[in-house]
Amino acid sequence: MPAQLIDGTALSQKLRAEIASRAAALTAQGKQPGLAVILVGEDPASQVYVRNKVKACGDVGIHSVLEKYEADLTEAALLERIAALNADPAIHGILVQMPLPKHINPHKVIEAISTSKDVDGYSVLSAGEQMTGLDGFRPCTPYGCMKLIESTGYDLRGKHAVVIGRSNTVGKPMALLLLQANATVTICHSATPDLGLYTRQADVVVAAVGRRNTLTADMVKPGAIVIDVGMNRDDNGKLCGDVDFAAIREVAAHITPVPGGVGPMTITMLLMNTIESAER
Ligand code: NAP
Repeated sequence: MPAQLIDGTALSQKLRAEIASRAAALTAQGKQPGLAVILVGEDPASQVYVRNKVKACGDVGIHSVLEKYEADLTEAALLERIAALNADPAIHGILVQMPLPKHINPHKVIEAISTSKDVDGYSVLSAGEQMTGLDGFRPCTPYGCMKLIESTGYDLRGKHAVVIGRSNTVGKPMALLLLQANATVTICHSATPDLGLYTRQADVVVAAVGRRNTLTADMVKPGAIVIDVGMNRDDNGKLCGDVDFAAIREVAAHITPVPGGVGPMTITMLLMNTIESAER
């Protein structure tokens, strides 16, 4: 029997309805949640991303402020804006769209965001909070992957999860969230000699690599859950993930499609973090 699809679009809609009702409750108490989105420069992909984030806020009743600056904005001026937003009681989340122009140090900028408003969860302090089990914001993409796994009703306790990829924004925080859910976690990366050796033992595989067909059907244990974070293009220019979807669908029990799996969840979890911030 082919694997069941984990529908990220449907789950996103469900979660956004929940977010909208929590936003409405906060607004009724005079505390409308607010997200500030900062864009520096003219990067076309970034323009689309920030537009989508601002629109998503509007759809669920989160107040959003989009601040757009020319590419020659100085680092000092950007840090000054972040300090002002840190102090603004109407703003509960601050997001600086990456990449920044070369003359601005992204680390300095991320660290300038107050941990209580770091809804991307990228700062060293937020990562430290996650690492030590404090209540820090979970980075949006791994947080979304956890919700997708949770939606299958699968209990991760004592199961073996393999994460392929170890980036600071996806792979590492993903592994940490799986660990917090009591899975036994293996992290694989480009220096892992025999990826299949690990993935064949996995009850859950999360692929976050950025390379097509990294995971093929012979590398998957029958009945596994496969979460595909990758965003790549196939030979026809069509969006595809990191896993051989058609073949793995015949082996796995649950699988996320690309598009329509992890992708829609990322902005949804940004909205969720903003609500959680306002509720705190
Ligand atoms: P990244 O920073 O480039 O990290 C990729 C990771 O994959 C690295 O840790 C790398 O290992 C590992 N890797 C590369 N080749 C490998 C191989 N042959 N076998 C095993 N591991 C390998 O990328 P990222 O930011 O984590 O993103 C990963 C993918 O997810 C990309 O396609 C990205 O577009 C997508 N993404 C999607 C969303 C979404 O919302 N859907 C969000 C974020 C990212 P090393 O560390 O050893 O180099």
